[in-house]
Amino acid sequence: MTKLDGKIAVVTGASKGIGASIAKHLAAEGASVVVNYASSKEGANRVVDEIVSTGGKAITVQANVAKKAEIEHLFAETQQAFGKLDILVNNAGIYELLPLEDITEEHFHKHFDLNVLGLILTSQQAVKHFGSAGGSIINISSVVSTLTPPNASIYSATKAAVDAITRSLAKELGSRNIRVNSINPGMVETEGTHTAGITESEGRKQTEAHTPLGRIGQPQDIAPAVVFLASSDSAWITGETLYIAGGLR
Ligand code: NAP
Repeated sequence: MTKLDGKIAVVTGASKGIGASIAKHLAAEGASVVVNYASSKEGANRVVDEIVSTGGKAITVQANVAKKAEIEHLFAETQQAFGKLDILVNNAGIYELLPLEDITEEHFHKHFDLNVLGLILTSQQAVKHFGSAGGSIINISSVVSTLTPPNASIYSATKAAVDAITRSLAKELGSRNIRVNSINPGMVETEGTHTAGITESEGRKQTEAHTPLGRIGQPQDIAPAVVFLASSDSAWITGETLYIAGGLR
């Protein structure tokens, strides 16, 4: 018997990076997983193939989770494939670093539409699909919500909003046995951080120099904690923000 036998999970943005690792770890513990993606069909298929080849269950569903209609489609497909929902991992997110003078309305709305509004609308749909036993929502926030590095005011603001939403929804939904927690990673090596040049930057060296454990993270440093927060091992934990950052604060 594994920790998540019979559970159904949706992981947003699971075609690569942290989300892909989360999907694989949830499936390894027995959950059936919906691997959501926006554009990387091949990446999402690779994640599903890997899960299925090791005896797990998973499907891909394309949906831009910044858009209400596409979010509704994601949950309709989940319902059709698996008939219920127990776990939502709000992982899809973007991070573009800009100094104050370069911030535009477009930059602001792009980040808040996905990282904040998308997370709210996705949670709203998930709550409609959770059964009478409740459910677990895990938001992937970031250490930047409180570390607030320079050139990251908009991104940091979106993740500070995620932390506030986590605590507020935990209070709102606790009576229905719906738990809401966040995981706040430090810098993690992913396709996204490579594309943004973050993992090759001076900022990486500075981060590692200030990190007690002396290195940046890998997606598999984050995913086991998601399994914990999804499972009954964390049955009396809600409204928490768990920093996984090698000790960096
Ligand atoms: P990544 O490598 O860039 O992967 C992002 C994933 O999100 C991809 O699967 C992408 O799908 C999906 N996605 C992007 N926009 C989407 C949308 N509108 N709708 C649905 N899916 C969408 O990112 P990552 O580095 O793993 O980061 C994942 C999460 O962790 C984000 O919330 C990020 O803020 C947070 N985080 C990351 C770090 C880090 O250092 N990496 C640190 C702290 C927190 P497509 O490829 O199909 O577009």
